[in-house]
Amino acid sequence: MRPILPHAKLLALSATLTVNGQGDVAKHLLMKCFRVISSAPTKENISLVVLQRPPLSSKVSSKETYNFVLQPVLQSLKSKGQNFPLTIIYLSGTMDWMKNIILNNLAKDPHESPLKIVFATIALSMGADLRHVLQVIHIGPPKNMEAYIQQVGRAGRSGDECIAVLYFNNSDLGRQGVSKSVGKYCRNDVMCRKNFINSYFGYDATDTGFACKKCDVCNTDLKCSWQFKEPLMLDKKGVVRNAISMYVQTLKLTTITELHVE
Ligand SMILES: [Zn+2]
Repeated sequence: MRPILPHAKLLALSATLTVNGQGDVAKHLLMKCFRVISSAPTKENISLVVLQRPPLSSKVSSKETYNFVLQPVLQSLKSKGQNFPLTIIYLSGTMDWMKNIILNNLAKDPHESPLKIVFATIALSMGADLRHVLQVIHIGPPKNMEAYIQQVGRAGRSGDECIAVLYFNNSDLGRQGVSKSVGKYCRNDVMCRKNFINSYFGYDATDTGFACKKCDVCNTDLKCSWQFKEPLMLDKKGVVRNAISMYVQTLKLTTITELHVE
């Protein structure tokens, strides 16, 4: 565009970019004199918690490592009913037809929507204004910190206090394509998680002794209600199917699509 419109003003927007990445964008767009307007990626109203789920072993199957998280969450949904906070659980494989129904209902006021839990792919809600999500749960981390912070950012857009909980085991961190930074973030138990993330993206994180009270490193109490103890015995796809069936039935749909869970 520069040769055609040499004096045009350019605006480049990005949801998640490191400070180094900002320079790369400016370079590729041939911006010689530019101003950056940005804010640190962590949000004040989102608490961050990271916990381990059981490692795979001869005694613990892959199914059980998923059920370790899914069953307590679904039990909580069952007992709280309409009062269960709107929650996104990041898995893979949601179908397109289902995605549209999910997005339409997620955008509604919680009292008007039948949805309480959404099992999501990484693409869910790109560009959508989902204001009422209060919990984001990862069963296994995304591949990089950029994806993580975008997915965590689905919560709390109403300004209400919310929480993002990430469960991992060694197999998750050994998955192809999972970055070293994600591994460090998961295993970190010293540095404030918000400082860790801000530092990764090139923002100020000088005061690592600062107790933010909004991450499990600064405030271990945050872990309490998310530290599940016993591996569960239900089939993992069965658990996911039951949850999907709950809201599909509410939406008066007849087809239930099996989710693929890695
Ligand atoms: Zn902290």
